[in-house]
Amino acid sequence: MLMQKNVEVKSPAEIATMRAGGAIVADILVLLTGQVRAGMTTGDIDAVCREELKKRGAKPAFLNYHGFPGVICVSINSEVVHGIPSKERALKDGDIVGLDFGCVVDGWFADSARTVPVGAITPEAQKLITVTRESLEKGIEQIKAGCRLGDIGWAVQSHAQSHGYSLVREFVGHGIGRALHEEPAVPNYGKPGHGLRLKAGMTIAIEPMVNMGGPEVATLSDGWTAVTKDGKLSAHFEHTVAVTETGFDILTLPSKA
Ligand code: MG
Ligand code: MG
Repeated sequence: MLMQKNVEVKSPAEIATMRAGGAIVADILVLLTGQVRAGMTTGDIDAVCREELKKRGAKPAFLNYHGFPGVICVSINSEVVHGIPSKERALKDGDIVGLDFGCVVDGWFADSARTVPVGAITPEAQKLITVTRESLEKGIEQIKAGCRLGDIGWAVQSHAQSHGYSLVREFVGHGIGRALHEEPAVPNYGKPGHGLRLKAGMTIAIEPMVNMGGPEVATLSDGWTAVTKDGKLSAHFEHTVAVTETGFDILTLPSKA
């Protein structure tokens, strides 16, 4: 059972600091989206992200997290999450690439992800990306004080499943704040009216990982990269969100709209 007492409620000032970090993450994701192209290596993406974080005075959240060697997770095609950046690994036209990273500002964490196309992708791949982003939005729309984690999970799950896709269960969203991963776990599946009841001031990262085929995943021998067992495509979107009395407040939006 998830214990409500473990979930910290953040003050408006703390949430403002998380938003400052969230804008840095979002701005860099926008920048990377514009730069991603065939021939760029996943190591190049890591280098850009590292440099941009430094320029903005933010610390990377993922570097050395349980030994992770990059500042960003770059996961291509059937890779679900946690792909390790490499100078040996070049993007190809038609790939879809998940970009997932976080930063720390004054001790407060923000975490966001998106999946972007490399050059021209198939309509099927584009639809997976669109439905995954919509699934995140449907989950976020459920958020307000008093809503339950099952309401969010169900909204995410039912949207993706209505398009014939499956949801990864081994990895879930999470509380976030003073640490990258805090209570509660935020699954991308659930039953309406069940699970932890959210309070205003809680901050959570919602991050659906949606598979074109079955939900099963495996971890590669590098100890990090999660892939779909059937080799089919997977997409990933994530926002860090604060719960308010009347709704939600997305903290990982770009600094200018
Ligand atoms: Mg993330
Ligand atoms: Mg996360």
